[in-house]
Amino acid sequence: MKLYNTLGRKIQTFRSIKNGEVGLYTCGPTVYWFAHIGNMRTYVQEDVLKRTLIYNGYKVKHVMNITDVGHLVGDSSIGEDKVKLEARKEHKSAYDVARFYEQAFINDIKRLNIIMPDVMPRATEHINEMLALIKKLDEKGYLYKVETGIYYDTSKFKKYGELTGMTFEQLNKYLKAGARVERAAGLRNITDFAVWRFAKEEEKEMVWDSEWGRGFPGWHIECSAMSMKYLGEHFDIHCGGVDHIPIHHTNEIAQSEAATGKKFVNYWFHVAFLTVNNMKMAKSLGNVYTLQDLIDKGYPPLALRYFLLSSHYRSQQNFTFEALDNARNTLDSIYAFLRSLKAVQKEGSLEKEPSDELDKLHKAFFDELNNDLNTPGALRNMHALIGYENKRLSEGKVTKEEANKAIEIMLDFDKILGLDFEKALEEKELPEEVAKLIQERELARKEKNFERADAIRKEIEEKYGIVIEDTKEGVKWHYK
Ligand code: AMP
Ligand code: ZN
Repeated sequence: MKLYNTLGRKIQTFRSIKNGEVGLYTCGPTVYWFAHIGNMRTYVQEDVLKRTLIYNGYKVKHVMNITDVGHLVGDSSIGEDKVKLEARKEHKSAYDVARFYEQAFINDIKRLNIIMPDVMPRATEHINEMLALIKKLDEKGYLYKVETGIYYDTSKFKKYGELTGMTFEQLNKYLKAGARVERAAGLRNITDFAVWRFAKEEEKEMVWDSEWGRGFPGWHIECSAMSMKYLGEHFDIHCGGVDHIPIHHTNEIAQSEAATGKKFVNYWFHVAFLTVNNMKMAKSLGNVYTLQDLIDKGYPPLALRYFLLSSHYRSQQNFTFEALDNARNTLDSIYAFLRSLKAVQKEGSLEKEPSDELDKLHKAFFDELNNDLNTPGALRNMHALIGYENKRLSEGKVTKEEANKAIEIMLDFDKILGLDFEKALEEKELPEEVAKLIQERELARKEKNFERADAIRKEIEEKYGIVIEDTKEGVKWHYK
């Protein structure tokens, strides 16, 4: 399997540290708000990586942290904690806010068929591990104190910034040129960052006593401490969005390697950004969508997953509703194809020629994935298979044996794609009563009796487990 490694900036053949096992760490959400579809791009692509590793026979231990304290607004080194700020706005406790958005996040990743991590450690539950790491760094002379907290002197770490491909001086210049230079007073270098922040007198929640004073951890130290706790001081793959390269991951490396004297991570995997209508997602532009926003507009979650799979993780991807409509239609046509295969009754053995073609496309699909997770290439091969078989279906050439083979291959593809092919195959026909109810609902909608229409939709969902969606192309339905 070949993978692009941000560290060194080239494609390499992946080799795990332990035979047949992979330690995988993916930076998780800061739970102060709902995750948006850009975040989901990163999590879905990380899921493709994990599924491909598993398909290749590795036993994967996957850790994803929950940042419930320490991530400051604007990623600056001064300013308020994101979770605590939201708690103030919502008049709730920081813990209530954090747990609420953590659950919302878990619901979202489940709805996107992202395989759950093996461990999801919360920052607030690993303060001791963080303090132990800070102590090590302190003993080795990497830390200094300013008014607002304990900082890491980045000039003391020889390889600081290696992940960015820039020298220490270049990186300092780069960060100075950027807009995000709200720095605490007394810093020695612009790249220096807090490992521990002092709490204000009035701060009561999510603060801990330590030998450096009462406070809370910095965001970067969390990922260093929690990844090493569950995966060891040296592990295989660490992931996140590209925005994490110059600061968050650069700082994680600096802390972890300074503390242990060992190489921290072998492969760094970064997902490029999702834009919306070719613009950066921003609340001020009103273009920050969550998965729930899309569901409320009538899209099934897997339409988003299909859309996200259709682009390579290292290219920027642009979201539009037109593209999402296309994704939904393509997904529907794949499900229809699966059902047509299942309906084949024709007896007869599989001819050699289609068998060879199917084998070829099956292999090509996984070759593309093993080539730095080329999902668009893999999907091209799946669509070639669908096109080939659809043609043969229309000509009445497909036997039961051939259909079964095609189904088996499609299900194998779905081990990576996670698009519920199995469910589509099990899908029953629409019961007659429901067809009638849908007609009745359409009538109610025409008469603008939305209350009645909503009541019917609810009845169909509760009684029959069928979800109704209104789309541009008309009413669609699927089993829950
Ligand atoms: P955060 O909760 O801000 O730490 O972000 C969670 C994950 O989503 C991180 O790995 C980010 O790098 C990633 N991310 C944030 N914005 C985007 C975006 N627009 N496109 C893709 N990934 C993103
Ligand atoms: Zn992280």
